[in-house]
Amino acid sequence: MAFEFPNKDNAQYRIKDKYQNFIGGEWVDPVDGEFFDNKSPVIGQVVSQVPRSKQADVDNAVKAAHKAQESWGKTSPAERSMVLLKIADKVEAHLEELAVLETFENGKAVRETMNADLPLVVDHYRYFAGVIRAQEGGISQLDEDTVAYHFHEPLGVVGQIIPWNFPLLMAAWKLAPALAAGNSIVLKPAEQTPTTILHFAELIQDIVPPGVLNIVNGFGAEAGQALATHQDINKIAFTGETTTGRIIMQNASQNIIPVTLELGGKSPNIFAKDVMDEDDGYLDKAIEGLVMFALNQGEVCTCPSRALIHEDIYDAFMERVIKRVEEIKVGNPLDEHTMMGAQTSQEQKEKITSYLDIGKKEGAEILTGGNVKEMDGDLGEGYYIEPTIFKGNNKMRIFQEEIFGPVLAVATYKDDEEALEIANDTMYGLGAGVWTRSQNRAYRFGRAIQAGRVWVNTYHDYPAHAAFGGYKMSGIGRENHLMMLAHYQQTKNLLISY
Ligand code: NAD
Repeated sequence: MAFEFPNKDNAQYRIKDKYQNFIGGEWVDPVDGEFFDNKSPVIGQVVSQVPRSKQADVDNAVKAAHKAQESWGKTSPAERSMVLLKIADKVEAHLEELAVLETFENGKAVRETMNADLPLVVDHYRYFAGVIRAQEGGISQLDEDTVAYHFHEPLGVVGQIIPWNFPLLMAAWKLAPALAAGNSIVLKPAEQTPTTILHFAELIQDIVPPGVLNIVNGFGAEAGQALATHQDINKIAFTGETTTGRIIMQNASQNIIPVTLELGGKSPNIFAKDVMDEDDGYLDKAIEGLVMFALNQGEVCTCPSRALIHEDIYDAFMERVIKRVEEIKVGNPLDEHTMMGAQTSQEQKEKITSYLDIGKKEGAEILTGGNVKEMDGDLGEGYYIEPTIFKGNNKMRIFQEEIFGPVLAVATYKDDEEALEIANDTMYGLGAGVWTRSQNRAYRFGRAIQAGRVWVNTYHDYPAHAAFGGYKMSGIGRENHLMMLAHYQQTKNLLISY
């Protein structure tokens, strides 16, 4: 079954001609009245107008957040937990609608938004609703007359800037812990996917007190920069490219505010010789794990973008992988059978095709794909690319630079030591995969790979209770897990002599 393209007359998946910012609980136009075109990558056409916000809009949002914070910051964990539970219920009740809108805005397959992204969003709000109830401050007695109290206080007003690859999930990763900890928020969505989050805000506007959540749309160099440099925010949390992360960190240093950075990756996946010991379910699972390089059109920070295959199994293993990749159905992402939809923007499509050219020029061998995927009819102007596998070596740019598309770079290795050396030969350290039937090797590889998340014999699970974040140039701080609360709180110590 294929869902209808959302449009302004569609009863269930209605999109608007023109959107507004959400500030202080009100829907408002940008102060200078400027809007920008929002295109759907599925059809490559402009579908709505979105505020092109600037400094004045961000100023208004930060002011509204401070006003709201006066009372929100004093609410009890139990009250905030209830708000988060209501948000989760609301998203769950509107899951299909949000999934279809996100697919149309981002280009990703609806089977993913419906079955993975949105259920995870719901779970993130529920998870932080739970853990905040369990958090307690500490009291310790220093001597007979002296006691130290520790209180977890919210930071205040936090700025959050997110990318386009998982619009509602990236928002949930940031909003859920920040709200649970008692902060007010100014969120800037990515300019490529600005509206799904506004539909979400519309759904929850009666649940969250006015001004606690403010959404200001616009470009990175304008609204993003205005938020990241704002003198009245108490923290900035950012997910996006490493190059942008560097600018965000420089800006944060001016105001001495904490910063969380979730940045790029170039995730190695090591396949040990023993994966082919038997032709059983385990081997099929390992192949499915690798094929996830094309999940979300390869626009995932932890996509298995580099595969290191033991030289003795390379031919037989890759024959199976290529056969499986050639079965991937690329097409209308609103069709439930589609596995790969559209790249998120024309710019992104051009970036990926430039890397297809770079790989070819570097002398890498194309094992499958390698071209733009031409589509017909309504999809003719959309942004589609064939899933592509290159064979080469780790010195090539296609092995070192983040392509953020459905492009896998594979190389062989001869022993465990060489596999680890290649895996760690990167400036990134976000995700990695290890596929082996040996528990011993799995543990050694898992500990030795320099990445914040190493999946072993599985890939791309993102449970709310597992900490996620980068080593090296992939970032600072963690998201998910209850440890995340600490990133949105400060500790007050009260040392009293009675
Ligand atoms: P990007 O850095 O171009 O943009 C991300 C956000 O930052 C957008 O909202 C953008 O408007 C804003 N921005 C851009 N320049 C800015 C500036 N100077 N000041 C303030 N804000 C600015 O990244 P993208 O292309 O949207 O996203 C893809 C990147 O995100 C990839 O590198 C990917 O690996 C990374 N990513 C990382 C994670 C993670 O958890 N580590 C998750 C998803 C995506």
